[in-house]
Amino acid sequence: NRQFRLKRRPVGRVTRDDFDLVEAPVPTPGPGQAVARNLYLSLDPTNRIWMSDMDQYLPPVALGEVMRGGGVGTIVASNNPDYQVGDTVNGLLGWQDYCLIGAPGELFPPTVIPQGLPIPMTALMGACGMTGLTAYFGLIELGQPKAGDTVVVSAAAGAVGTVVGQIAKIKGCRVVGIAGGKKKCDFLTRELGFDAAVDYKAADWREQLKAATPDGVDVNFENVGGEIMEAVVERMNLFSRMPLCGMISTYNDANPPRYDLTPFLMKRIKLQGFIVLDFKDRYIEGSMQLAQWLLEGKLKAQETVVDGLETAPETLNMLFDGGNIGKLIVKIADA
Ligand code: NDP
Repeated sequence: NRQFRLKRRPVGRVTRDDFDLVEAPVPTPGPGQAVARNLYLSLDPTNRIWMSDMDQYLPPVALGEVMRGGGVGTIVASNNPDYQVGDTVNGLLGWQDYCLIGAPGELFPPTVIPQGLPIPMTALMGACGMTGLTAYFGLIELGQPKAGDTVVVSAAAGAVGTVVGQIAKIKGCRVVGIAGGKKKCDFLTRELGFDAAVDYKAADWREQLKAATPDGVDVNFENVGGEIMEAVVERMNLFSRMPLCGMISTYNDANPPRYDLTPFLMKRIKLQGFIVLDFKDRYIEGSMQLAQWLLEGKLKAQETVVDGLETAPETLNMLFDGGNIGKLIVKIADA
């Protein structure tokens, strides 16, 4: 049972040396416990936040602890009637080959996925899972998009962004994605049906943003922060909405920037930060809707899958380098 244990808190980018990769025994379940064989690991920008000891929405990962991470696995042993051998489970299974479910300190018990669900396992972490739900609740509940609105989303070619843009299209909005590089921008407009894409790595990106939002911006689904966020805020309309989902451009910074709130006052912009966990009582509703759109062909589940648990620390950095399109996943073992 290979396990990545957090050795020290990363400074700047994550490195392999921030972890000990140890070989532990495969756990045997005690009373009320179960064991999952981990098949896929979800890599998320928030992994970087959990490694730090900044104020955050869950306790940071303690030094020496197995790195926390979402994933999908199969139950291989169980002393708990809620988990049957052969069940597929989805939850915080960690950066390891096997997860002991019901261990002391567990934050949330993994969820059993109903059998025979006609969606791929990887979509349980992406389009119909945590990142899809983030897009769904953040956009619908906080963004309140109406047909004809202009919706801008940053990190648009990523796991959350691709779903935000596609839902906004389903809702009849004009959708503008901001992403790094021509390849990602072409993907957004040609494959996902976005109305326009802004390449923030091009010298003229501010002009591109202006041209793409002739009627201003009604909803800014913010994933990035920094200069990109400030430029979109400049384009926002009176009484527009800004779900603040993430600020990936500054997660590696020890001293993140401070922002000017004046435009929020002058333009009466409704800004709300949120964490997908805020909507946990409605996950089933959200997943069902996302799965239905997926099966109807209205939602594409884009994914980047990298082989091998041992690659996890380096693969995580793909999120900060823009190496992924859609949900970033590490494959640990065959189903
Ligand atoms: P993505 O799949 O979008 O991957 C991250 C992407 O961010 C990269 O592919 C890269 O794309 C872009 N990026 C990285 N660094 C920068 C930078 N400095 N400037 C601009 N773009 C950058 O990840 P997720 O979809 O999982 O997450 C997107 C955002 O949503 C993150 O901020 C994350 O923290 C947040 N989030 C929040 C949740 C919540 O509950 N509030 C839940 C899940 C995610 P590119 O090539 O375009 O640069």
